[in-house]
Amino acid sequence: MSADAAAPNDLESNWLPYTPNRQFKREPRMIARAKGVHYYKPDGAEVLDATAGLWCCNAGHCREDIVKAIQDQAAELDFAPTFQFGHPKAFELASRIASLAPGDLDHVLFCNSGSEADESALKIALAYHRIKGDGGRTRLIGRERGYHGVNFGGTAVGGMVANRKWFGNLVAGVDHLPHTYNRAEQAFTIGQPEWGAHLADDLQRLIDLHDASTIAAVIIEPMSGSTGVLPPPKGYLQKIREICTKHGILLIFDEVITGYGRLGYAFAAERFGVTPDIITFAKGITSGTVPMGGAIVSKQIYDTFQTGPDHAIDLFHGYTYSGHPLAAAAGLATLDIYRKEGLFEKARALEPYFADALMSLKDHKLIADIRVIGLAGAVDLVPVEGVPGKRGFDTMCHAFHHENMMVRVSGDCIAFSPPLIIEKAQIDEIFGRFRKVLDHIA
Ligand code: PMP
Repeated sequence: MSADAAAPNDLESNWLPYTPNRQFKREPRMIARAKGVHYYKPDGAEVLDATAGLWCCNAGHCREDIVKAIQDQAAELDFAPTFQFGHPKAFELASRIASLAPGDLDHVLFCNSGSEADESALKIALAYHRIKGDGGRTRLIGRERGYHGVNFGGTAVGGMVANRKWFGNLVAGVDHLPHTYNRAEQAFTIGQPEWGAHLADDLQRLIDLHDASTIAAVIIEPMSGSTGVLPPPKGYLQKIREICTKHGILLIFDEVITGYGRLGYAFAAERFGVTPDIITFAKGITSGTVPMGGAIVSKQIYDTFQTGPDHAIDLFHGYTYSGHPLAAAAGLATLDIYRKEGLFEKARALEPYFADALMSLKDHKLIADIRVIGLAGAVDLVPVEGVPGKRGFDTMCHAFHHENMMVRVSGDCIAFSPPLIIEKAQIDEIFGRFRKVLDHIA
């Protein structure tokens, strides 16, 4: 299409992911600028960002130090091959990330997104067992209501039916643990529910069914985010860890959402006191500015790969843009902000206020449940009968168009995850505006 042909309708060619595109073209939700905790529409209207973009802009938008770091890096070193070569900032960033990670997780393999991070972790797990002479361990175990990105492996271990059903068999040899949400037992819980640790026993059932010698890894989000903020029941992650350790199965925590402060700690693993063998991350590492993800692996996993001949490649996996200089520079500047401004501690301190503000919506007739932990919260809306997802979608649209607020919708669930620089008055503003949206929708 020529530039002229495209001009009459700029909305024509961009196929937005995870979006009803016909509806969008009729009623576009366009963003032109951002600063701090706000987006701005093309007409200049200020939009309160209650979702840190897509759970990623934890330091707030367009932070000057990050912008400058990216600009300086682009002028100094735009790209460096990452196969067989390195550049200093990627090494510096890997060390900084390792120092934030729990236990002996001390090596980072970089990539460019959460999906790639999860794919990398799953492949590392398979190769790890094979190098150890345990190549029969090929089965991967995920969880219902889990989200691990959209590549083949991540979609297969993920547990959202809408993401899976279009794409056939994906990857063979995958099982799922049950999710841990039970409204009857857990409704309106703040933080971790008391009920549900026993669901970890299902892992033992899968081991009894398939034999541990066939299982490579279990991958779970310590707090499921995309399916509506499901904090782990008390004791659940500990049990999963114990069973994995007993049977030589690697445990992968997908911390793409929970990493870098969302739950008040660098990683949720620290908050819950459970150390996995691999942590995947993305989003918050650069506060969303430049795409970056990665897998942090334990010393033992890394060392297992370092046993072949000196000249031989130790892992046949990686991306052209692994540890990209712009992303590495953005990551370092972002970690500086998190540290200097104490944003993880700030999130921890704000958590009770955020939880109370969200729970104040409890009495609304459209609300079926509320869950909250750290600076992440979600409300389940009473669905429109026979039309799943409509209530959630209408709510998100109304919030944007009429209350100038960005919230995240997933089915009939609305999630809130503001930038960690949010202030108490802005939290009040978020839930004040949201109540107005609910009143309108009702
Ligand atoms: N894992 C989790 C837990 C996520 O929430 C997401 C994205 N929301 C991903 C993986 C995939 O990340 P990306 O969209 O960057 O590929």
